[in-house]
Amino acid sequence: MKYADLHVHTYYSDSTFSPEEVVACAKDRGLSAVAICDHDSVDGIEPSRSIGNKLEVEIVPGIELTVEKADAEIHILGYCMDYDLGWFRKRIKELRDARIVRIHEMVGKLRAEGIGISADDVFKVSGRGSVGRLHVAKAILNTGKVKTIRDIFGKYIGFNKPCYVPSVKLTPYEAINMLLRAGGVPVLAHPRCMGKDEYIPELVGHGLRGIEVYHTDHNPSAVRKYEQIARENNLLVTGGSDCHGLGKGRVLLGEVRVPYTIVEKLKEESEKIKSEYRQ
Ligand code: AMP
Ligand code: ZN
Ligand code: FE
Ligand code: FE
Repeated sequence: MKYADLHVHTYYSDSTFSPEEVVACAKDRGLSAVAICDHDSVDGIEPSRSIGNKLEVEIVPGIELTVEKADAEIHILGYCMDYDLGWFRKRIKELRDARIVRIHEMVGKLRAEGIGISADDVFKVSGRGSVGRLHVAKAILNTGKVKTIRDIFGKYIGFNKPCYVPSVKLTPYEAINMLLRAGGVPVLAHPRCMGKDEYIPELVGHGLRGIEVYHTDHNPSAVRKYEQIARENNLLVTGGSDCHGLGKGRVLLGEVRVPYTIVEKLKEESEKIKSEYRQ
């Protein structure tokens, strides 16, 4: 049986792993395919492909976009999009630039709470990657003032905590529509983290095609619930580990895996979308 992990980050966003490390680890853990899904970036896809060709690990092109609602943060995964399209690259570059502005704001709020880190401290951690809260968390850990990532998110930078700053101003429609126009399959990431199942119908209305039922943060009852929601809404069922290298302590890669047939379904769906939306 062939397996795929359909949600993996690289150091082009907030994983500590290079593309080489991701692919070598995937090989080691017996995976046939991995989807590279960095936040607002597709820069990890080509480097992963060149090493994947050598090690016979298929790389599925992916991305993870963030959508803001007043009372929730929603992550949308995109699969098999034409990631070289000029307008697509330009739009995600704008999103990455907005992330930099956001870090300056967040650092100001942290200072008011007695956590003295600078934006440059954060950028040193993020390096080439699209900068995000996990990098902020690492910079705070380096000060020794707060001991765990869990506490940092829980007290300061988690959704709607005092130093939280919304990441980007994508609406659900915009995120899903830009993926569709690029021929990508929009999939709701880790719905349990969003915690607002009532938003799912709206997302489906905008063209959502799948839901990440299997995820390292989903317990068996969450899996059952989202399997049911997938059936009711005729959504593809996907799954992935959301591995961030050592970014979250343990290397999660391959801990959630789905049969390779899901990759085939994503490719078929992408072809359908391309014939509907190609401009
Ligand atoms: P950002 O894209 O900057 O909003 O950051 C999102 C990243 O922060 C995700 O990849 C998550 O891994 C991480 N994250 C969000 N909430 C938490 C949390 N409560 N604990 C640990 N990591 C989190
Ligand atoms: Zn992340
Ligand atoms: Fe996510
Ligand atoms: Fe992720």
